[in-house]
Amino acid sequence: MMANAHPSQEENSRVQQIAASIDRLSPQLTALSDHIWELAETKFEEFGSARLLAGMLEEAGFDVSHGIGGLPTAFMASFGQGDGPVIALLGEYDALPGLSQRDGVVQREPLQDDSGNDNGNGHGCGHHLLGTGSLAAAIALKEYLAETGLPGTIRYYGCPAEEGGSGKTFLVREGAFDGVDAALTWHPGYGNAVVSMTSAANYQVRYRFEGRSSHAAASPHTGRSALDAVELMNVGANYLREHVPPSVRFHYAVTNTGGFSPNVVQATAEVVYLIRAPEVRDVEAVYARINDIAQGAALMTGTQVQIRFEKACSNLIPNITLEQIMQHCFEQLGVPTFTEREQRYAAAISATLVEQSEGGNVNTPSPLPLPETLDAYEPEAGSMLGSTDVADVSWIIPTAQLETVCFARDTPFHSWQMVAQGRSSAAHKGMLHAAKVMAATAAALMAEPSAVLEATQELRRRGGIEGYACPIPGDVLPPVHPSLRA
Ligand SMILES: [Zn+2]
Repeated sequence: MMANAHPSQEENSRVQQIAASIDRLSPQLTALSDHIWELAETKFEEFGSARLLAGMLEEAGFDVSHGIGGLPTAFMASFGQGDGPVIALLGEYDALPGLSQRDGVVQREPLQDDSGNDNGNGHGCGHHLLGTGSLAAAIALKEYLAETGLPGTIRYYGCPAEEGGSGKTFLVREGAFDGVDAALTWHPGYGNAVVSMTSAANYQVRYRFEGRSSHAAASPHTGRSALDAVELMNVGANYLREHVPPSVRFHYAVTNTGGFSPNVVQATAEVVYLIRAPEVRDVEAVYARINDIAQGAALMTGTQVQIRFEKACSNLIPNITLEQIMQHCFEQLGVPTFTEREQRYAAAISATLVEQSEGGNVNTPSPLPLPETLDAYEPEAGSMLGSTDVADVSWIIPTAQLETVCFARDTPFHSWQMVAQGRSSAAHKGMLHAAKVMAATAAALMAEPSAVLEATQELRRRGGIEGYACPIPGDVLPPVHPSLRA
């Protein structure tokens, strides 16, 4: 395997060839990423972003299938020759609502209608970089396969709605990943690391209460308040917190208060819950109790509750076999280095963060606002606390992921600071570097298919593949139709 610390000449030339492909394409790649940043399209509405990515892959000689898995903004681009392994690169491109932000500045400054995106959204998780970085890896790998004649197939998966939509979980349920031998992806961040962490499983559920409106002063006794029901449900759920395992988290957002008039008894109100726990079965147990609380609130208020299961994802299964190969490639490629100007901008961003450390993946403290070190590989380094739909892919296909420095240290995810840095030269560097590591890892797997088999055996040992049950029931449709959206 790849255990030898000293890379062979063959490995060196492979890595250099891949890095050169990506460097050559860097102007188009950064322009593509910047364009997706501008579009800032949110879950299941990433039509423009998907079109841009699929278009560039088509131009590069990939066969593109649009709308895979019944998701209009999902697609798959494939290039292959011979019988080698099928390697998937996972790309995301969805933005977040309410995070419109000018780039390159160091203060909160939403974009105005006349410049850039005016839809109120922003790329607060760097998915414009994520989708483009994975695309860069796919194209570099394709060039490598074409030049070397090595057998293998590369598939780029355009995965919509990572934020609040679990696009990949729907794609997994619909069999869109069938035939893939290994999957690689990355996430922009503020550390350089192969990420060997699990993530929380979750359910997202919508509780809609229906009551009866009436004049709040003249005839309150004829009204049945849906808003009361939402409030009582939340009170009940907050009392539940003491009686769940400490690793359980649940959060809610009131998405409909029933109106703006205190003198009308609110006939309709709605709250959305996100329930997280280390594994799906733990989420299921808490979900059952929260459903009881909702029914209790409905009983107390004389209202009806409609429970709509929206989406779910599993916990992530790290794959040490793949991660070791990825770490080896990362070590060969080194880390991105930044100019004084890039470090200064990051320092100015850092100054706007008030004790907002995320406790992310960085395990090597660095004095630089943009760290220039590679973290030591730490297999199974705990849980990232949050959730990702990459997890469902990791249950059926050995999956590895990395993080590169794109943002100032400790920049909170889903913040204006992250949006502001999204088109910086530092972000571009991190993106291109991640692409090189992913492409080099994929090429290493193509050159040594036995590693793919070993990774698959590891996944089986950990309970994946046959042990997978999709956490989204078969009758739950993705909310791609306007009537099903929040
Ligand atoms: Zn993200």
